[in-house]
Amino acid sequence: MQKLQGIAVSPGVAIGEALVMDNEGFRIPRRFVTRDTVEDELERLEGAIAAASREIERNCEAVSQELGEQYGAIFKAHLQMLQDSRLRSELEEMIRQRHYSPEYAVSRTLRRYAQVFGRLESSYLAERANDIFDIEKRLLRHLLGRRREGISHLSSAVLVLAHNLTPSETANLDRRFVRGFVTEIGGPGGHTAIVAEALEIPAVVGTGPFLTEVSGGDQVIIDGDKGLVILQPDEETVARYRHEAEEIRSMAVRLESLRDLPAETADGVRLQLLGNIEFPYEVDHCIDRGADGVGLYRTEFLYLGSETEPTEEVHYQAYSQVVRAMGDKPVTIRTFDLGADKVPHLPEPEDERNPFLGLRSIRLALRNLPLFRTQLRAALRASALGNVRIMFPLVSTLLELRQAKMVLADVMEDLEEHGIAFRRDLHIGMMVEVPAAVMMIEHFVEEVDFVSIGTNDLIQYTLAVDRSNRDVVGLYNPADPSILKLITMTIEAANRKPIPVNLCGQMSGSPMYTMLLLGMGLRRFSVTPSAIPEIKNVCRHVTIEQCQAVAARVRSLENARDINSYLKEELKRRVPVLGQ
Ligand code: PEP
Ligand code: MG
Repeated sequence: MQKLQGIAVSPGVAIGEALVMDNEGFRIPRRFVTRDTVEDELERLEGAIAAASREIERNCEAVSQELGEQYGAIFKAHLQMLQDSRLRSELEEMIRQRHYSPEYAVSRTLRRYAQVFGRLESSYLAERANDIFDIEKRLLRHLLGRRREGISHLSSAVLVLAHNLTPSETANLDRRFVRGFVTEIGGPGGHTAIVAEALEIPAVVGTGPFLTEVSGGDQVIIDGDKGLVILQPDEETVARYRHEAEEIRSMAVRLESLRDLPAETADGVRLQLLGNIEFPYEVDHCIDRGADGVGLYRTEFLYLGSETEPTEEVHYQAYSQVVRAMGDKPVTIRTFDLGADKVPHLPEPEDERNPFLGLRSIRLALRNLPLFRTQLRAALRASALGNVRIMFPLVSTLLELRQAKMVLADVMEDLEEHGIAFRRDLHIGMMVEVPAAVMMIEHFVEEVDFVSIGTNDLIQYTLAVDRSNRDVVGLYNPADPSILKLITMTIEAANRKPIPVNLCGQMSGSPMYTMLLLGMGLRRFSVTPSAIPEIKNVCRHVTIEQCQAVAARVRSLENARDINSYLKEELKRRVPVLGQ
């Protein structure tokens, strides 16, 4: 049994069989071969080494001819490594003595070599680790041949263990079979984490390297609440977690009883609890949890889930499914927030060194007007079916907002000219997720019908902490006083105008912050649908006066650690765990 600590990004417990993905997203197959097949397996390994060597020789020749001998030498070095007698005898020993499959032996041995190189101080030598990964991949390609399988053909329940999953890979996971996932890299606010919540499966990211320790079919436990991953658990641990999973299920049933109760505080102040969705099917999750509407529809997942650019009709179908299902409740369609870690199959911008600071989101939309207009047409058409709002992401200047509104007005005129129905008076809003937008909030509230605070990005841009990087996870903190000040400024400016203000970052789905946010004047929370009952439970146990006292106390504290521990205590004191 081995325990790994990662970052908890989607709650719950999953116990099941591992499906291990290599760096290229292909499965690394099971570990063992039977005694009587050892000779055949050794032969298969020899065949793969021979084929890989021929391939490298061909590359060496071609590169030497085109670019000169010195470049061909790179491949000569690969060839030497591949034919190194120590490597060969290690691989043979693993297959003969330990009965590892050749794929597993190759993967395990070469990754160990790569780790040794990676730890060397000389950066030149450390980079040789990549050469070793290259050799590993080449050998695996030859060993697996046509049997290389991706993640798309699943037929039984699995827990996916991968180095990384991009948001689009996560978006394409088969919900019928994937019961949880773990990635070696990734941080708390990455979109991979957000999709895990949409799938409502436990997930842990940022564990650090462990894939060489596990193979397909091993039993694994994912504890999405504590961020723990347990490889090959003993019986006692499995029994304990089965019990815990049972508890979680019965807690969910108890929370269901809140579904039809109003979202209001103990002193009767009515709130709006809205759902964040990434896929149209999640509208059912919103309805099941009694959401007051959709506060954030991350439409970029339409682009991420498909090989081709979605047509206007594809957009329209997706939006109308959501709008129809919500009846007269609001549906906030956020225009596509692509770029940074959400990269679709568009041509990649050249040399994006800082993709989170680069051509993402509304900037990308304003530079790709046909793409933007297609989406706006579809969203406007869907507005004829219900209560649609349109929201622009990552707005950082007034000019940007005005430009986006101008494009929208132009598309409206176009629809009108063609006699196509839409709601002319639909509400137009913006995300507040860049510190510059908060600094200019007094101006912004004059030009929009509502604002929604995106703390996921606001934290990253204020504290200069990459939300998807596990190495700086300790610095990524919603309770940092600077973040709380920016949130307060936004809420107060919106309430003064007054226009509705919502908070749709992950922070609003964490019960620990509910009292504080209520005390700061927030009345609209948009959260992952599964979090709605828990947030409602907190709201129904507290009065606004108590929350204002919490906010006042927090204002007197000067660091996130003290604020977090105070908020945890306060939550425990005021809100009984349901059913206890
Ligand atoms: C945010 O930044 O808080 C937000 C809700 O948007 P996203 O997570 O999609 O960037
Ligand atoms: Mg954002």
